[in-house]
Amino acid sequence: MRRAAQEGSPAGTSVEREAATRPPGDPPPRLTIGVDVGGTKTAAGVVDEHGAIIRDARRETPATSPSEIIAAIGDLVEELRGDHEVEAIGVGAAGFVDAKRSTVLFAPNLAWREEPLRAEIEKLTGLSTVVENDANAAAWAEFQFGAAHDVDDMILLTVGTGLGGGLVLAGELYRGAFGVGGEVGHLRAVPNGHLCGCGNKGCWEQYASGSALVREAREFARSSPPQASCLLELAGGRADRIEGPMVTKAAADGDGPSRELLEDLGRWLGEGIATLAAVLDPAVVVVGGGVSEAGDLLLDPARKAFARQLTARGHRPVLEIRRAMLGNEAGIIGAADLARRR
Ligand SMILES: [Zn+2]
Repeated sequence: MRRAAQEGSPAGTSVEREAATRPPGDPPPRLTIGVDVGGTKTAAGVVDEHGAIIRDARRETPATSPSEIIAAIGDLVEELRGDHEVEAIGVGAAGFVDAKRSTVLFAPNLAWREEPLRAEIEKLTGLSTVVENDANAAAWAEFQFGAAHDVDDMILLTVGTGLGGGLVLAGELYRGAFGVGGEVGHLRAVPNGHLCGCGNKGCWEQYASGSALVREAREFARSSPPQASCLLELAGGRADRIEGPMVTKAAADGDGPSRELLEDLGRWLGEGIATLAAVLDPAVVVVGGGVSEAGDLLLDPARKAFARQLTARGHRPVLEIRRAMLGNEAGIIGAADLARRR
C-alpha cells in the first residue's frame, strides 16, 4: 500500500497511481489531500485512510510571495481533486504554527508572518483545512503508518539541512501549550558552540544535521587533502563543493575518513537522543531526513553513543532507534491523516 520509494511526479503534472483493489460492496475510501510546503518545492497528494497516496502532484514554491504560495496550494488541490471525493485538506509547513492549527506564526524560509493560512485555503477551496508544522506531520505519518506504527510514544528526528523533530506521546501528537513545541534541534548541545540560524549558540542542530556534516567534511578536506582524496575526487577537487550525499557515497564505498565523519554525526545524534529519553522516555526514535540515507553507517554509531549516555543504563528498558520508512512522502501522508481526524 505504501509508496515511500516511488518517485513523485514532475513539477506541474499530477499522476494517478495504481488504485488498491477494493472488494465490491465496500464503501468508497475516505480521501483527504495532504500538502507539504517546503522552501523550494510544494508537494501534495490524495491519500486514503491507510496512508496510501493515490494521486500526487508538485510544483515550485513561490517562497517570497505569501499570496502566490496560497494560490499554488489552491492550484494543486484543484488539480488533484479531479474525480475524487475529497473531505478535507491538511497542510504541513516548515514553520511555527499556532495551537489552533490555523495560523503560521513564522516560517524562516517562506514569506509567512502571522499568515492565516487555514482561512485563506478554506476560502479558496471550500474544503475544511488544518495547518500543521511539517515535522509534526511527518512524525504523525511514521507513527500511524511507518517505522513507529507499533508503539504509543515516539519521536521523529529529521536529519536534513537542519534537525527537525516531532513528538507523539501517549498516542497523541504533542504540540505544547502554544503549538510550537518539539523544536528539538535547538536544544543546546555545546555551551558557546557554533552559531545557529535561530540566533543562539551551540544548538544540537549545529552538530547533528546535514549542514554540520558538510561543514566538517569541507574543513577536513581543507586541512588534510591527501586523507580526503576520495571526497575531493567526488567534488571535482574542490573542498567547497563537497555535499552531504558525497560523504554518504564515499562512506558506503568504504572510505575510512567519510565513515568517521558519519560516526561523529551519529555520536552527536545518539547523545542527544539520550537527553530526550531522560525527559520523554519514548519507545522508539525514528531517524529520517536526507542524512538517514546513510542507514546503519549513521545509526549504529548513534545507537552506541546513546547506550553510553543513557541515564540509569542497565536498569531500565531501552528505546529502539529506527530508520524512517516513509521518506519524503511522510509530510503529505501525515498532513492528510491529521486532516481526516480534525
Ligand atoms: Zn538554534
